[in-house]
Amino acid sequence: MEKLERTKFLLGEERLPQSWYNVVGDLPFELDPPLDPATREPVGPEAFAPIFPEEIIRQEVSASDVPIPEEVRETYALWRPTPLFRARRLEKLLDTPARIYYKYEGVSPSGSHKPNTAVPQAYYNREEGVRRLATETGAGQWGSSLAFACQAMDLDCTVYMVRVSYDQKPYRRAMMQTYGATVHPSPSDLTQAGRDILAADPDSPGSLGIAISEAVEDAVGEDDTKYSLGSVLNHVLLHQTVIGQEAIEQMDLAGEYPDVVVGCAGGGSNFGGVAFPFLGENLKNGRDTRLLAVEPASCPTLTRGRFTYDFGDTAGLTPMMKMHTLGHSFVPSGIHAGGLRYHGESPILSALVHHGLVEARSYPQNPTFEAGVLFARAEGIVPAPEVTHAIKATMDLAVEARQSGEEKVILFNLCGHGHFDLAAYERYMAGELPDLEHPDEEIQKAVARIPGQPA
Ligand SMILES: *Cc1c(COP(=O)(O)O)cnc(C)c1O
Repeated sequence: MEKLERTKFLLGEERLPQSWYNVVGDLPFELDPPLDPATREPVGPEAFAPIFPEEIIRQEVSASDVPIPEEVRETYALWRPTPLFRARRLEKLLDTPARIYYKYEGVSPSGSHKPNTAVPQAYYNREEGVRRLATETGAGQWGSSLAFACQAMDLDCTVYMVRVSYDQKPYRRAMMQTYGATVHPSPSDLTQAGRDILAADPDSPGSLGIAISEAVEDAVGEDDTKYSLGSVLNHVLLHQTVIGQEAIEQMDLAGEYPDVVVGCAGGGSNFGGVAFPFLGENLKNGRDTRLLAVEPASCPTLTRGRFTYDFGDTAGLTPMMKMHTLGHSFVPSGIHAGGLRYHGESPILSALVHHGLVEARSYPQNPTFEAGVLFARAEGIVPAPEVTHAIKATMDLAVEARQSGEEKVILFNLCGHGHFDLAAYERYMAGELPDLEHPDEEIQKAVARIPGQPA
């Protein structure tokens, strides 16, 4: 074994991070505050009180690192620290001088990075006497993560699942039910938001924006119920920074530091989770790591969306946030990277792209699945369709390195496995996946419907 080259970099439980890293405290610019849609004045933290517990609201507006509660660390220890691998076989296959590493979040109970925030969110709600959480889910990864976390923290859980995923992914639904959650297809007739959509379009495939409206309405209407969001908001990205903090230590074990960090971006949480600790090193310690967020061409929020104030949900129930958006009325095409089908984006990540501290690019779904299949054959892990966007970008960077002869070190976040997405792989291999671009007229139309846009 002495000659075996290391491919796996592991940390013991005692190396679990003690606190979450808050990039807000290190940003070289001010973030724009959320606005009240009626007055267009900044909203205070109290605007979130009907839907979130106090501690989550405090974290949402905080610029400081936050200590991780002991019970949360104990629950994290079920799967954290997660492994970091060097993709030696992929490097060989690509014949690249680049060294490729990936952080693997698929070892969590629900198979993705999402329990990193689901567990603390459930914990803080329980500590403040909440009995039930309501949420939305697109592809089912968030719903199953929150269902697991609610079970771990002894809370009830109600999930509004985007209809197209409810139909495409019966096993994610069964997984949530196995953890004890109640799952409704969205739009449903259980909420006014759902009934309004169904009245206009009885066959609506649903969207994350619609499902968020339903879950928020549910939570606001019940005293013992709060709402929980799996991406986009500052506290969610904060919780995900355990990924990047561990990765810094593991890259160090490998004797490396990344030149580029790559992640897929839907609402920005796994990307922020892996990238922000490295961004902190750029901002504080003179490092110069390139950060690259990758999204689908059919839902090009960061690359072609407008950086403006918009609602987080379709019905316009949330405060308005300054972010890259395709317009809250945007209904995405049924691509298989369900976790990336969202009209908006994390305000922090949006601002970072706007200020040029993070780069963004997009790919259509066939090239990403091609990359995903290649990766699975080389490395053995079948990645979630969302992740294949990061893999495609990583492979393109590795091929560029071959052409330029540069010895680049690339790290990407393999934020979830694709074991529930094999129907999508099947369709890809059968040549049945369309490559859809999102037309500019559609973006302009949807953006024009955001209140307060110049005519
Ligand atoms: C939810 C999810 C995403 C998209 O959400 P982000 O907040 O952008 O991370 C991407 N990949 C996987 C595997 C997911 O579960």
